This record gives sequence, C-alpha cells and structure tokens, in this order.
Amino acid sequence: MLKKAIDHVVVRHGRTVNDEEVAIPVATDLTTVPGIPTRESDVSFYSTNYPLETHNIEKTADRDWIWTVYDEELYKYLKRHDELVGPLIEASEGSAELEPISIPDKSVDVTSQIREKARNLGFGEVGFTRFDYHYALLAKKSWVQYEHVICLAIEQDYVMTQSAPSLMAEQAHYGAYELEGALLLDLAEYIRGLGYHAQVHSPNDNSSVFIPMFVAAGLGQLGANGQLLSPHFGSRSRLALLTTDAPLAHDAPVDYGINNFCKECQICVNRCPGRALVREKVWWRGVEKFKVIYDRCRPIMGRYSGCAICIKTCPIQRYGMKPVMEYYVETGEVLGKGTENLEGYDFMGKGHFSPGELPAFDRDTFQIPQGTNEDWLFEEFKTKLKSGQKISEQYATKFVSSVKEVLEKGKITRD
Ligand code: SF4
Ligand code: SF4
Repeated sequence: MLKKAIDHVVVRHGRTVNDEEVAIPVATDLTTVPGIPTRESDVSFYSTNYPLETHNIEKTADRDWIWTVYDEELYKYLKRHDELVGPLIEASEGSAELEPISIPDKSVDVTSQIREKARNLGFGEVGFTRFDYHYALLAKKSWVQYEHVICLAIEQDYVMTQSAPSLMAEQAHYGAYELEGALLLDLAEYIRGLGYHAQVHSPNDNSSVFIPMFVAAGLGQLGANGQLLSPHFGSRSRLALLTTDAPLAHDAPVDYGINNFCKECQICVNRCPGRALVREKVWWRGVEKFKVIYDRCRPIMGRYSGCAICIKTCPIQRYGMKPVMEYYVETGEVLGKGTENLEGYDFMGKGHFSPGELPAFDRDTFQIPQGTNEDWLFEEFKTKLKSGQKISEQYATKFVSSVKEVLEKGKITRD
C-alpha cells in the first residue's frame, strides 16, 4: 500500500531522444502551485526600482579575488576555458542582427521543429515561454531582442560531477558550458534557416537570471540549493537562452512537487559546508524561495574548487526525479537521505564527512573582498582611517591611481 496519496502525474520525455517517456507521481502533500509561488506586483516593483545586475559588474571585488585562491591546475584550466569561450561570446553578441536566410513557411509547426532540432543537437531540456524582462540584467536590458525565449539545458557529466569538490567536477561544469555555447550557435543558425531571427544569450555572459524562465517553461522548479531541479538531471543542468521572433507556442509551468519536497528533504541544507543554505523560505523580490546566502557560499566555492556539495548531495541530481518521487509516494521518505552513499563526501584536505558531520572553517575563511573593486578600495581606506593608521603620501597616491584604474576599466559584463 502506498504511504502517500497521489495528486497528479507529470509525464515528460525521456532523458535522451532514445529514452521512453517518464511518469512522475506527485504526492498530495507535495502539491503547491505550478512553477513557484510569486507575487507579480512585487516582482514588478523590485525589477523597476532595484533592477538585477550581473555579478561581473556588481561583485568585481570577489570575482577578481577568486583567481588568487585557485590552485595552479584549476587556475590554468579556467584561463583556458576563458580563451575557449571568448569567441563563442563574441559570436553571441551580434547574433540578433544576423538576417534569416529563408522565407518562413507559415504552414509548419515551428515550435515542434525547433524542439526536435534542439533535442537532436544534445539539449536535454527544451522549453518555450515569453522573455521576461523582470529578470533581465540592467547592463543587458536594451541588448535583448525578440519576444519569445527558448530555454535550453544540457546535462553536465554524471560521473565527473559526483567527485565534487574537485578539478574533475569543475571540468564537467565548465566543459558543459563550452559545449553549450557552441550548440546554441548551431541552433540559432537552424532557426535563421527556418526564416526567423535568433539571438544567442551566452551562458558565459548572462543576459538575465535564467531560472525563472525555465520554471515558467515547465522545465523544473527551484530547489533549496538555489538551482533549477530538472526532471532527469536535477541541478546538474547547464542553462542557456535563445530569443527569437519565430511564432512559438509557449509551454506552461509545472508542479513537480519540489516546492514542498525541499522542505522535507533538506539534505543540501544539512550538508552545505559553508552553512550558506537556509531551512525556511523567505519572500525575495516577489518570489517565495529558499535564499542562498551568497557571502557564506562564495568563499567556500572559491577556496574549494567550486564546492558544489549542494549539487552532488541532491537526490534529484543523483537518482532523477521519477525514482525520488516514486519512493516518496511509496514510503513517505526521501530516497538516499541519511546514507553515506548520497550524503558522505571528501572535502579537499579536510577529510571525509559522513551524514551529520561538517567541515569546520576559521573566521578568516569567510573574509573576502565585497562589492565592486572601487567599493572595496574605499572600504580598505576607511578601515585604515578608522584604526588611526597614518596615511602616507605614497599610500594616498597608490590609492588614487588604483581607483582611477578601476574606473577607467568601466563596466564589463563578461569575465
Ligand atoms: S556551493 Fe558549497 S558552500 Fe555554496 S551553497 Fe553549495 S554546498 Fe554550500
Ligand atoms: S537536496 Fe533536497 S532540499 Fe536540497 S535541492 Fe535537492 S531536493 Fe531540495
């Protein structure tokens, strides 16, 4: 006998184009709303008055700092990654202006054609919705063109990801973005061949906060780890967008049961080495969510090869949504919770941590530069003044030239 009553069953395509459809049962006590609880008027208020901005502009101080704490191998790997994605970003930047190369055939179902092409190219999840300017980043708002957005996810390598934190897991993560950047250009070319414009939003130079549009397109729901939990690979998905004037039929948000499942599960919250994840949801910019504490996550991510314990220990990532939700319906419990297999991890030089155990860090671990580079220079200057230290002429000259250098560099949206 089932422990939980089933409210509805979500039917989704298989993990790859060769796999059969899956049916995901959603228990009655996990059912909330399709997508994510939202107050539209608040979303609108915050996006108008406190627009979102890219971390590459708002958080330059820690983005520069992070390069100083990478070990040599990761540093070299990420420098190479930047070289590889540079041309992909450049190709994306002007992609909206490229003209279609044929006359559209209005009699065909262009939504199905694009979905099929994207899946055959290797995108594991493909969904369609309206581009939501509420989530556009300030620096990119006027760059975005076309009404419809195609949400595209590719799967990051399973085995490599389970080794997190490690160089190998970072290679899985960044390697997926390299592949995705190239596949997006191919898909855009295909759409131009159908007679429509296509703008590539590089995953390596974000135009917007992507997850809300993926949720609106029914490709998953937001997990307590701050990631999109997609049906087949959970948070092991790398996301990108493509906007177009092709007349697409939009998908609808889906309730996979995640909004309540994360309240039951809490594995990522319990296992997070940085104590950066929270137990209770808050309303944040008009959305009810578990809010990741950036200032506690970032130092750990930077110092420990991307960390990613919250991805690795998530049962949806590890087993997929169908077995996890079936197990919940049958037993009322979370698949893998409390097991060494799912929750245990080695944490780079600190040893092994079984369920219930966490690495400890000293206070200095969390001391990292905050805000923009100019903010941080002024912060250091103020600290020096407050502590009564003498400001030498040499220091003052260096301070002014550093601020000038930062301001001259200007605001750059990509790394
Ligand atoms: S990356 Fe690590 S520190 Fe950051 S939220 Fe995930 S588990 Fe916590
Ligand atoms: S580990 Fe559990 S609580 Fe965290 S995101 Fe995954 S399902 Fe949600």
